[in-house]
Amino acid sequence: MIQRILPVGPLQCNCVILGCDRTKEAVVIDPGAEPERILGAIAAEGLRPKYLLHTHAHFDHVCGTRGVREKWEAPTCLHEGDVPLYKNVPMQGRFFGFQLEETPPLEKLLEDEEILSFGDYRLQTLHTPGHSPGSVSFKLLDGPETLYSGDTLFFRSIGRSDLWGGDEGLLLKSIRERLFVFEGELEVVPGHGPVTRLGDEKKLNPFLRS
Ligand SMILES: [Zn+2]
Ligand SMILES: [Zn+2]
Repeated sequence: MIQRILPVGPLQCNCVILGCDRTKEAVVIDPGAEPERILGAIAAEGLRPKYLLHTHAHFDHVCGTRGVREKWEAPTCLHEGDVPLYKNVPMQGRFFGFQLEETPPLEKLLEDEEILSFGDYRLQTLHTPGHSPGSVSFKLLDGPETLYSGDTLFFRSIGRSDLWGGDEGLLLKSIRERLFVFEGELEVVPGHGPVTRLGDEKKLNPFLRS
C-alpha cells in the first residue's frame, strides 16, 4: 500500500494519495489545491489515478481537482448532498476573501456504503453529514485499516457546523453512529491536521466524551 499525505493550500487540506503497489492504480482524496504538487507525487510513485474523491465540497478540498483532472482521466466523485456547494465554489471563495475558479464537471455521485476498488484494495464510502450535507468518510477495507474522516473528525476536535447546511447535532450523531462503531486501533487521517487513532478520540476528544 502506498499512502502519501500532502497538506495543500492556505488551509493545509490533507490531500491523500492511495496506491496499489502491484497494479499502480490509485485514488486521490481531496485534491484541494496545488495540483502540480499532487501530480508530482503521483508521478514520483508511478501511479495511475482511477478516482478523484472528495470528502465534501468546501473550496479547500476541491480547488486542485481541475488541474489533476486535466492530466488524468479519472472521474470526479462527490456525494449528492454537496453538489450545490461544489457548483458554488466562487461564492464560497468570496465569503472567505479568495477569488476562486469554477470546479470541473462532476462525473460520479458517491452513495452511502459504496465500495470503490483500486488495484488490490477497496475503499468504503460512509455518509457522515453534519459538517456539510454531503460529507463522507472513507474506510480502507484492505491492507492497513484506515479511516479518512474529512472535516468530520479531527485530532481532539470536530468539524465546524456553522457553514452552509452544517448541523452540529447531525455531525455528532454521524461520528458516534458511523465512525465510533469501529475498533479503537483504527488509524484516522483527518481533512486537516495530525493523524490520530479512533480509540484515542473516543476517550480524549473533548467534543465527544459522554
Ligand atoms: Zn470543510
Ligand atoms: Zn477543510
